[in-house]
This record gives sequence, structure tokens and C-alpha cells, in this order.
Amino acid sequence: MWTLVVNCGSSSLKFALLNSATGETPLSGLAERLGSDLASVRVDRENERVTVPLPRGSYPEAFGVLLAELDALGLRRDVRAVGHRVVHGGDRFNTPVLITPEVVEVIRACIPLAPLHNPANLAGIEAARAAFPDLPQVAVFDTAFHQSMPPVAYRYAVPTDWYTHYGVRRYGFHGISHEYVAGEAARRLGRDPSGLNLVTAHLGNGCSVAAVQGGRSIDTSMGLTPLEGLVMGTRSGDVDPGLPDYLAREAGLSLPGITAALYRESGLLGLSGLTNDMRELEEAARQGNENARLAVDIFVYRLAKAIAGMATVLGTLDALVFTGGIGENSATVRAATLARLGLLGFRLDEAANAQAVRGQGGVITSGGVPALVVNTNEELMIARETAWVVAGGA
Ligand code: ADP
Repeated sequence: MWTLVVNCGSSSLKFALLNSATGETPLSGLAERLGSDLASVRVDRENERVTVPLPRGSYPEAFGVLLAELDALGLRRDVRAVGHRVVHGGDRFNTPVLITPEVVEVIRACIPLAPLHNPANLAGIEAARAAFPDLPQVAVFDTAFHQSMPPVAYRYAVPTDWYTHYGVRRYGFHGISHEYVAGEAARRLGRDPSGLNLVTAHLGNGCSVAAVQGGRSIDTSMGLTPLEGLVMGTRSGDVDPGLPDYLAREAGLSLPGITAALYRESGLLGLSGLTNDMRELEEAARQGNENARLAVDIFVYRLAKAIAGMATVLGTLDALVFTGGIGENSATVRAATLARLGLLGFRLDEAANAQAVRGQGGVITSGGVPALVVNTNEELMIARETAWVVAGGA
């Protein structure tokens, strides 16, 4: 079944046309700087890449280019559904759903939980509906996979009233990726997912780990917002909750200013003062830059602690999975992380670890508990989930 996968950010629209059974992707692309007069859309056809300017810089205009591309491929009438990545579904959705007016209202109600993302997702849904009025539209939530977490994992030790009135709890993110790589890891290990205890580490610009038991998430490192947990590209991850108050008093910073800095000026960028890009940091560290070295060390140190925590939650560990731009490509980060996790019984295979950088993934340990690299494919996961909903769901 041909499915159009749409992922809208606050000024971007990522799309892909996928065969949900085979993963074949004859068309994909990325519209950027929407909302400005510099907007353009990059279209990746099978053997060719073109960039088309978008003078109005709007979502409908970007969808217009997409329609023209589908016509050129002769595939417009074969598309059966549109699958949307939606960042926050609160505690209302634990599976993907067909988008109805009621679903739109719930996504709207979740805007306070994801003030940048959910409005963009809604704009994308509206524009897709106008462009494809006859197709079913499906919402696939980044939070849904983690809805299986038990209260012991998702509650914060704060006044209960904050939870009941304001939904202050842990939700978790990157669910589409964690679910995809957990399934793929089981397949590669030749094991039935229902009997597996996995820790999955999604390490991109945003980073999170999850404890996946029998194919279900039972804990994850991100919480109410995607700021909690690991050190990330520009996000701090865990800090003392007393930090905002301290900085407000001592540095005269405003609460929004502190929050913005925790999101955009912290993490690898904040520590190194150089860049949020792991590849550049590794290079700078090799050349002797001490701040870059410390940034990478802290990233790895905190990651290893979080993985060990997730292993404790699972009780036993069958495998550790690395994914995301860093997890898939940085042999250095993987080796340094496993070196800190001797307690869990990993034995790194250096040759396999170096090999895994070339894009095929695979097991990077020899003996002991396996660690493996799995390339994530959120678009394929969204296409599969969309096909599942269109076929009638659960
Ligand atoms: P996003 O979360 O935005 O989708 P990615 O999953 O693409 O991001 O991850 C981006 C991160 O992956 C960056 O820190 C980048 O430096 C890192 N990365 C990509 N290739 C390499 C590499 N060869 N070595 C180390 N890090 C890499």
C-alpha cells in the first residue's frame, strides 16, 4: 500500500511516499523555512534531487509541489492514506488513530504540552486534508509507545494535584523510533519480541533511552517534556530542579530565558562552547580540544548511567540497541559507552563496531550480552502504523 508520510515542524515539512510493506520510497523531501520568503522544498526522486522555491512559504504551497511530483510519477491515484507524525498525544492515545474532528480537538488540547510541535502538526493535518480530501488521515504519536509505562515510572514525586489537574507526569518521546528499532532488533537477533528485554538508545540531536519489555515500553528517560534525561545536542537533560530559581535570583534571568537556554544553548553545545554536532566534537577532541573532550565524556557518562538504570528496571537484559545519527555512526561513543558498562556483561567487538559505521548496522559485541546498531526508520514505522489503522486497527 502506498502511504504518504508527513512530519511537520514549526517551519518545516518532511514527507515521504512509502510502500508500507516493502519500505520502497520513490519520493521524499523536505520543505524548510516555511513562513518566510526564503522557503524552498528539496525533492528527492529515485535518482535525482531538485530544489523548488516556495514564494508564498506556506504548507499548502509545499503540498502543491508534492501533488505535482506524485502526478509526475503517475502515483497520485495509488496513494491510500496520509500518516502524520504527531508529537504529543498526552495520555489519550496509546496507538495510532484515524484523524477525526474529535482527534483534532484532543491534539489541540495537548498544545500546552508541546507548544511548538502540536500546532505545526495540526497545520500539516489541515493542509494535507485540503490536498488529499478523499484519503484517510492517520495520526501516529511520538508519545503513544510509552503509554504502557506503569505509574511507578511515569509519576513524579510532586503534589498529586499537579498530576490530576495539569497532567504533570512523564510521557516520553521518540516512541516511533524506539518501537521500530526494538522490533528490528528482535528480528535481527532471531528472537520473538514478546520474550525480549531490550534497552534502546536513540541518540540524535535529541537523545533518549527506553526499557522495552516484550515489545512494550516500561520506562524512558524523557519526561513531561523532551528536556529530561540524557545530555543532548543543545538540550541539558537532567539538571537540579532548583536551578531556575537559583539563576533567576543570582543572574537575574527570566524563567522563559532560562528554559530557552536549557533547550537551545546547553547539552554538547553548552559544554563545548563549539558545536552541537558530535562528529565535529569528536574531531576537535582528537585534536586536543579539552572542552570538546569533556563534552563527549559527559555525554557518554550520563548515557551509560541511564542505560544501567533501564537495565535495572528490566531485571534482565537481552540486548542493547544503538540508533539515531550518533548511535548509528559514532563507533567512538558506542565503544566508550560499552566500556563503562562492564557490569552488564558487554564484550565489544572492535572490528564489528568499526564496520557498523558503514550503514548496515549489526551486532557489535562478541559473546556476553549483545549490543547492536539498528538504523532507525521513523517514516517506515509511520507508514506501517498508518496501514494498520486503515486496515481496521486492533
Ligand atoms: P535528528 O535528531 O535531528 O534527526 P540525527 O539523528 O541525524 O538528528 O543525529 C544528528 C547527530 O548525529 C549529530 O550530532 C551528528 O554529529 C551525529 N552524527 C552523524 N554522523 C556522525 C558520525 N559519522 N560520527 C559521529 N556523529 C555523527
